[in-house]
Amino acid sequence: MLHHLTQQYSILSDIISELRDKSVQQDRLRFRRNLERVGEFSAYELSKMLPAMEVEINTPLGVAETKLLAEQPVLATILRAGLPMHQGMTNVFDKADHAFISAYRKHNPETEDDFTIEIEYLSCPDLNGRVVILCDPMLATGSSIVAAYHTLRTAGMPSAFHVVSAIASVEGIDFVERSIDGVHIWTGAVDEELTAKGYIVPGLGDAGDLAFGNKLQG
Ligand code: URA
Repeated sequence: MLHHLTQQYSILSDIISELRDKSVQQDRLRFRRNLERVGEFSAYELSKMLPAMEVEINTPLGVAETKLLAEQPVLATILRAGLPMHQGMTNVFDKADHAFISAYRKHNPETEDDFTIEIEYLSCPDLNGRVVILCDPMLATGSSIVAAYHTLRTAGMPSAFHVVSAIASVEGIDFVERSIDGVHIWTGAVDEELTAKGYIVPGLGDAGDLAFGNKLQG
């Protein structure tokens, strides 16, 4: 199921516009903080569909009947571009457990545009029966999300699997929905186009480089 968070206007739309704007996105601190804010707002929206339990809380003046999150989710992300959004989700789900995956695009030297996703590292709790929320700012081809999902599955079968992105491509959404049974995709924006190198158009450019600077490969 797709949850397109700016289909109806909210302030999230202003934040995503700043992420895209080439005159604003050069401010690395602001870029990272805006990704973090996307993580925070997405976590809030997503929390509305998580199981809750009824509890009584003792206030200084009486007893309040209220609801609490029934089970803590596992917040997963893909290094390194996912880190600021992951921080935002952590700000909201402050008692969650965490999973980290390192992945990079290995380009075919003959074709240049062709790449496979190589995963080198997973740090993760037991995922059996857990709600897993994987965030990655750019859902482009969807291949790193699907590769990350298969790697996470080596740690157990989640009760629900959510993908959260700032911007997603139509093609990437379609691929993830076809590859992961019952997946929920939460995204701040949906863009129509992908370049041959797997960049989203109009997108925002390279989220990892904008947040953390250039790197040598991947
Ligand atoms: N990763 C990015 O950082 N940007 C894209 O457009 C696609 C993948």
